[in-house]
Amino acid sequence: MLRIGLTGGIGSGKSTVSALLAERGAVVVDADRIAREVLAPGTPGLAAVVTEFGPEVVTPDGSLDRAALAAIVFSDDAARRRLDGLVHPLVRRRTAELVAAAPDDSVVVNDVPLLVETGQAGSYDLVLVVEADVETRITRLVGRGLTEADARARIAAQATDEQRRAAADVVLDNSGTPERLAEQVQEFWDRHVRGASRR
Ligand code: ADP
Repeated sequence: MLRIGLTGGIGSGKSTVSALLAERGAVVVDADRIAREVLAPGTPGLAAVVTEFGPEVVTPDGSLDRAALAAIVFSDDAARRRLDGLVHPLVRRRTAELVAAAPDDSVVVNDVPLLVETGQAGSYDLVLVVEADVETRITRLVGRGLTEADARARIAAQATDEQRRAAADVVLDNSGTPERLAEQVQEFWDRHVRGASRR
């Protein structure tokens, strides 16, 4: 198994790179998706969050009210740590299950937006970072439906390009066209994946 950690700032193109790697046969494990799954309606994870933060963090239909929860933890570091302490172990356990279920000769790509912020670079054989300049990311995020102010605030709350680069084994530059990104993914695959020994 070859384990690749994929990260990059919001709007840099992680999901796009994940899809390109999946097309080439990688098993993609998406941390954001797992974080949603473990707090889905009816899960023990959601029940634990409600016990901790109160019934106001669920909507009438029984799903997590992310905006209400975000409002609680936004300005309260202790509350954020309590939330992380509930959710991170659930995400880690589900991630480990999905990785364990992949065949031994798989290329497993973990798409982890906060890989650098949470100090996980050492958990992978290779750390792949996707980059694009901030203004390009903001334009793309606005195209995806965020407001410009929200996009800038989210970028400011994340690690910098320099911090991510320091953790990277390979950096992909997604400031250009989707075709140029696909070429870089192919180069990465040929050089670092096809040639790599599988453990
Ligand atoms: P992330 O997963 O890192 O937040 P995405 O892969 O979702 O980023 O990309 C952010 C947005 O930009 C998406 O709408 C995506 O389709 C678009 N996008 C990604 N790469 C490019 C590119 N090279 N040119 C134009 N749009 C792009």
